[in-house]
Amino acid sequence: MVKKVKRSARVEQAIEFAKKAHEGQTRRSGEPFINHPMAVMQIVEDWGMDEDTIVAAVLHDTVEDTGITLKDIKEQFGEQVAFLVDGMTKLSKISSNMNDIDTYLPNTKDNLLRLLVATGSDIRVLIIKLADRLHNLRTLSALPPDKQRRIAKESLEVFAPLADRLNMGRLRTEMSDIAFSYVNPKRYNELHDLIDEYCKSAEKTMQKIQKEISAALGREKIKFTISGRVKSVYSLHKKLIKHNQNMGEIYDLMALRIIVNDITDCYLTLGVIHSLYIPMDGRIKDYIAMPKMNGYQSLHTTVITKDKKIIEFQIRTREMHEFAERGLAASFYYNEQKLTENYRTGKIQHLPTSLLWITELQETAAKLKAGKKVNVKKLRLNLFADKIFVYTPKGDIIDLPKGSLPLDFAYRLHSEIGEHVIGVKINGKMSSLNTKLKHGDVVEILTSKNFTAKEGWLDKVFTSHARQKLRAQLARQGEVIRSKLPKRKPKTKKKS
Ligand code: MN
Repeated sequence: MVKKVKRSARVEQAIEFAKKAHEGQTRRSGEPFINHPMAVMQIVEDWGMDEDTIVAAVLHDTVEDTGITLKDIKEQFGEQVAFLVDGMTKLSKISSNMNDIDTYLPNTKDNLLRLLVATGSDIRVLIIKLADRLHNLRTLSALPPDKQRRIAKESLEVFAPLADRLNMGRLRTEMSDIAFSYVNPKRYNELHDLIDEYCKSAEKTMQKIQKEISAALGREKIKFTISGRVKSVYSLHKKLIKHNQNMGEIYDLMALRIIVNDITDCYLTLGVIHSLYIPMDGRIKDYIAMPKMNGYQSLHTTVITKDKKIIEFQIRTREMHEFAERGLAASFYYNEQKLTENYRTGKIQHLPTSLLWITELQETAAKLKAGKKVNVKKLRLNLFADKIFVYTPKGDIIDLPKGSLPLDFAYRLHSEIGEHVIGVKINGKMSSLNTKLKHGDVVEILTSKNFTAKEGWLDKVFTSHARQKLRAQLARQGEVIRSKLPKRKPKTKKKS
C-alpha cells in the first residue's frame, strides 16, 4: 500500500501558487477550477510519484489557462517542474487530435512513442496526463454529450491501452469502465447487472471455498491474504467478443486472489489448491516464470470444486501485486529519487527488466525530437505493439510479428528445424500449420529427418525471414531433383 504522503513545503507552496493562479475560474460543473489540479495531484501522490511530478501535477493547467508563464514556474519550482508542465501544455494541444503529430513521426502508429516525442520524452508527463484524464473521466457527467463521447472514445482507444502497457492495472480498469459507460451505456448496464447478479449468486460458494483454502494454507503454515476480485465490465465485454458472446466460456467473472510472501509460497499455494480441487485442463498459467509483455506476474489456475463450480485463482507476491496495480508508478515508489534523477537522461537502472523498454523509447523520442535520424524499422519498441511473444517448451521467449504461423516460429529457431517440420503442438495440442500464433502460446515443433520443405508451405509462412529460408531450401531441392534427371545438366558448379 502507498504510504500517506506528508506534503513538503515545496508542494504546499505549489498548491498556494495554483490556487492563486486559478482564482475565480470555475469548471463546467460550477465548482472552483482548483479542484481539478488538486485532484490530479492527489492521484499522482497516491501512485507514489516523485515530488517534481506532484508539484507539476498541481501546476499542470496554469500555463495553458492562466497568465502564468513557463519562466515563472522555472524560477519558483525549478527546471524539472517547468519541463513537466511544458510537456502537459503541449500535450493538451495535440491530444484532441493525435494525428497532428504525424509530422514528427510519419512511420509509426505507436501512440506512446508519438506522445513521448510530442512532450519531450519524459514518461512522467504521460503519467500526469493519465492522472489528468482519469479525473476528467470521473467528472465527465458535467460535459455536453458530444464532448463526453469524444473523450470517452479517446480514453478507450489511446489512454487505457497506454495504462495497460505501463502495467497500471487499477488505472486501466477504472478508465476503461467509466469510458465504456459513455461509449456504450446500454451494453455497460447489461454487463454491469450481469456481473452483479453473478456475484450475488456465487457469494456463498466463494465464502465456502475461501474457508477451505484458508484452512489448507494454514495447515501448510503459509502466510497469506485472500480476497475476491470481480472482473471489470469492459474486460468482460472484450472477452465476450472474443468468445462469440458465449458466457459459458467465461470462467473468471469472479476470482479469488491470494497474496503470499514469496515466489516459493506462490507455487506451494498452487499445489495446495490443486490438491483440494481439480484443475481444468490447459488453464494453468505461469506468468511468474513467463511474465506478460507489460511485466505482469502471477500464477493463474481455474479449478472445478466438489460442487462442480468453476473458480479461478490468482496467486502472487505482494510486490507482484503492487506492480500489477500500479505498474510503472510503483517503480518510482520503490526507487524514489534515485530513479527520477536519472529519468530525463534515460539512465534508468532500477526499472524492472520488463519495463526497460521505456528507457529505449525515451531515448528514441529524444533523438527524433532533436531531428536526428532514427531507423524506425529497427526500433524494437516501435514494433512492440505489433509483436507477440511465444515460448518454446523450455520456456525460451521468441518474439514474432502479429500474424505469425508455426512455420515462422520453426524457421526462427533454426532453418534446419524449419526444413524438417512434420507437425506442431500449440499449448500441448496438435495444431494445423495454418494456426495463427497468439501471445503467450507455448509452441513445440515436431520434426523428422525424413521430411523436407514443401512448396505448399509458401502459403503457410508470414514472416519474410521464414519465406526467404524456405525459398532457399526449395531452390536447393529443385537443383537436387534436376540433377537426378538424365538429360539436364546440374546447375551446380563443377568441382575442379
Ligand atoms: Mn487538466
